[in-house]
Amino acid sequence: MNWFGRLFGKKDTDDETPRIAHVFFTNTLTERKELFVPQKPGLVLMYSCGPTVYDRAHIGNLRAYVFSDTITRVLEAAGYRVRRVINITDVGHLVGDGDRGEDKIAVGAAREHTTPEKIAARYTKLFLEDIRDLGIDTDEITFPHATEYIQQQVALAKTLEEKGFAYRLPDGLYFDTAKFPGYGKLGGVRDAQLEAGARVEVVKGKHHPADFVLWRGAKPGDLQQWDSPWGRGNPGWHIECSAMSRSLLGQELDIHTGGEDHIAVHHNNEIAQSEAANGRTFVHYWMHCAFLTMEGQKASKSIGNVVYLSDIKERDFHPLTLRYFFLQAHYRTPLSFSWDALAAAASALERLWKLVSEVAEESRRKTEPSEALDHFLATVRDDLSTPQALGILWESLKSEDFTPEEKWGLIEAADAHLGLSLIAPPVIQATVPEADLPDTVRDALKKREEARSAKDFAEADRLRNEIEQAGYKVGDRPEGPLVTRV
Ligand code: AMP
Ligand code: ZN
Repeated sequence: MNWFGRLFGKKDTDDETPRIAHVFFTNTLTERKELFVPQKPGLVLMYSCGPTVYDRAHIGNLRAYVFSDTITRVLEAAGYRVRRVINITDVGHLVGDGDRGEDKIAVGAAREHTTPEKIAARYTKLFLEDIRDLGIDTDEITFPHATEYIQQQVALAKTLEEKGFAYRLPDGLYFDTAKFPGYGKLGGVRDAQLEAGARVEVVKGKHHPADFVLWRGAKPGDLQQWDSPWGRGNPGWHIECSAMSRSLLGQELDIHTGGEDHIAVHHNNEIAQSEAANGRTFVHYWMHCAFLTMEGQKASKSIGNVVYLSDIKERDFHPLTLRYFFLQAHYRTPLSFSWDALAAAASALERLWKLVSEVAEESRRKTEPSEALDHFLATVRDDLSTPQALGILWESLKSEDFTPEEKWGLIEAADAHLGLSLIAPPVIQATVPEADLPDTVRDALKKREEARSAKDFAEADRLRNEIEQAGYKVGDRPEGPLVTRV
């Protein structure tokens, strides 16, 4: 629980029940906005589908984690304790998400001439660095690796087989969706389950296109394989989430999150496995974030429009700019990324940090409650309405109707909910105007722009180093280079 939660969720002296504020979320399962009520008062069990660590997470993936972090912040500030798990997929996720094709980890290992273990370790580390940069406290989250839970996955698949929910084919053990009456209930795809299944490449012998693999027999050359009752092999992708959530959080979860792409197949399959095995509801609140697109297009390596957090940092944007950019849109709204839009978010966040620093001085960091604070809290607790919450923050900070202490109270709440480092804004180096630069640096900058236009990146990098040696840092912005002192 963060400080804000401890403050506002504190126990009354004569009443041991924590005071918890009402929070509303849109549940994909019911397709309605609902009052959030966890199974145990005061405690939230939350699972988020994590990255497949065969490559860097792109900024679309990162939207999914800022989204689940915002849910956590809102719940903690309302007085809940949140236990969180994000899985690390280091085996079983095939290219194309279906039951055929190569394992993504094997693809990554071949690409970088290394082992699956090294690939997974490399990209897990980068993933954790990225999300920390985005203001996510990784110490408060458990990150289980699928390869560390093979026995639990085998046990779950065995239970499903014993209960009659699975059948064997020569290449593995499959879940029999026809045996699970509620199959496809998430996202209203029940009637379209054929279509959902049809998107998965059909395997010979499958009873139904929507049936999916629980355990896959090892193919010659498979680098990752384990013993099982069905011979040597590796787990299907969906089973890891059912097995790891059960091991770490129990059979019934309060919240399960992911990107909307997972609704139709992955999450319906998780529900089928867990509910068939456990005989009880798997998840009470399913929450999904809409996709981030790149200037309106799907992010894809083949189109070459994939952006990573490292690209953003290289252009000298503070990483929290991306978080601010995400929060400007509601999580259920598709969001289109462009460098111009990111630059606009950067200038807004930098102005906000400046404004906040002024209020810190004027208020001497003393807080008072206010109507603005109440309005902010009600808004952010209403299905995480972050764009409106940011609007309230801006309007109230600029208004003369609130005292500096009231403004500081709002800033502290906004910081706890939004994770934008408002209490301790990073020091942003002032841009050095071109006229103030030494001639040699101005000259090198000009040559560097020419080299970049000519796509001579080696020369551009050499000139960047030269400029750095002279004591200046260049950030590439859509409107031109931005120069600060090192
Ligand atoms: P993956 O590594 O592909 O399993 O994806 C990790 C998480 O990112 C999942 O929750 C996905 O649903 C989510 N995700 C993938 N692409 C995007 C995107 N473009 N926008 C938002 N979320 C995404
Ligand atoms: Zn999952």
